[in-house]
Amino acid sequence: MDFIQPVSWADALAAKAAMPTALPVAGGTDVMVELNFDARRPEALLDLTRITELTDWDTGTGTHAGTTADSGNGRIRLGAAVTYSQVIDELGEQLPGLAMAARTVGSPQIRNRGTVGGNLGAASPAGDCHPPLLAAGAEIEVASVRGTRIIPVGDFYTGVKRNALQPDELIRAILISPPRGPQQFSKIGTRNAMVIAVAAFSLALHPDTRTVGTGIGSAAPTPRRAREAGVFLASALDEAGLWESRAELPPAITGEFARLVRQARLHALGVMAARTLTWAWRDYRGTGSAAGRG
Ligand SMILES: Cc1cc2nc3c(=O)[nH]c(=O)nc-3n(C[C@H](O)[C@H](O)[C@H](O)COP(=O)(O)OP(=O)(O)OC[C@H]3O[C@@H](n4cnc5c(N)ncnc54)[C@H](O)[C@@H]3O)c2cc1C
Repeated sequence: MDFIQPVSWADALAAKAAMPTALPVAGGTDVMVELNFDARRPEALLDLTRITELTDWDTGTGTHAGTTADSGNGRIRLGAAVTYSQVIDELGEQLPGLAMAARTVGSPQIRNRGTVGGNLGAASPAGDCHPPLLAAGAEIEVASVRGTRIIPVGDFYTGVKRNALQPDELIRAILISPPRGPQQFSKIGTRNAMVIAVAAFSLALHPDTRTVGTGIGSAAPTPRRAREAGVFLASALDEAGLWESRAELPPAITGEFARLVRQARLHALGVMAARTLTWAWRDYRGTGSAAGRG
């Protein structure tokens, strides 16, 4: 297996263009597990750890590690290889939802090595970054020698552990608007630490646009929003004048919001149930195979 170690972003893109099958490695906390278990045998590893700009972040008002990166439209720009520990220690105020999620990831060792870009690259439905990125309406900056694309995070996840990257593309940065209201993250697992989410949910209130962002993890083949629940909550707050008054939240609103989120999750389960039954029945009848199930 070849080991390619570019020292600049331009070299990394050139290497990926020359060998699109090369597997990028940032923190390696997913990749090394896959290699150790022989789940993958890439032709080459493309080590991104020497590209320092990927570990930089820029809030528009303050930068880290002297980056000259432009956050653009006042957004916070996280380099793809920013670690969970960096998010927790350096960006807790600017990215509260993502920082809450980061605190629940793995162990201190995993939080020191694991990166936000790596979580997106892996695109596991259980990845903890996805719900807060969905709730915040983040965008993913990806690039190749052909140019740069900005992908809304809701379009980034295309299937179980699949994302919208083309074979010659790399994730460069994550763009997130600064919070205009509170953000929250909640995760349920089978124990308190070192646990993959059985379910996760993130919420962002955007009082400036009177909208509500949501993100659900571990409920469907891809991370997803509870769109209907978000629309309901935004208009219920509007109708009751609660965006302005900030009065106590009526239990009926909380209850209906919870019901709609539950429905979104159940809908996803229903889709998976129908798909798996269709596939299983096809197998049983001897008319289909595992291939082409997407
Ligand atoms: C013990 C343990 C506990 C864990 N706990 C959690 C947890 O609680 N929550 C959670 O969400 N995850 C958890 N993980 C999974 C993992 O730590 C995260 O997914 C992490 O964010 C991966 O980041 P990384 O930098 O290590 O990625 P890597 O392993 O380096 O890469 C992961 C994937 O992303 C791709 N990739 C990386 N960078 C780029 C880039 N710039 N452009 C394109 N593709 C790229 C790689 O090719 C690979 O496919 C755990 C893993 C372990 C081993």
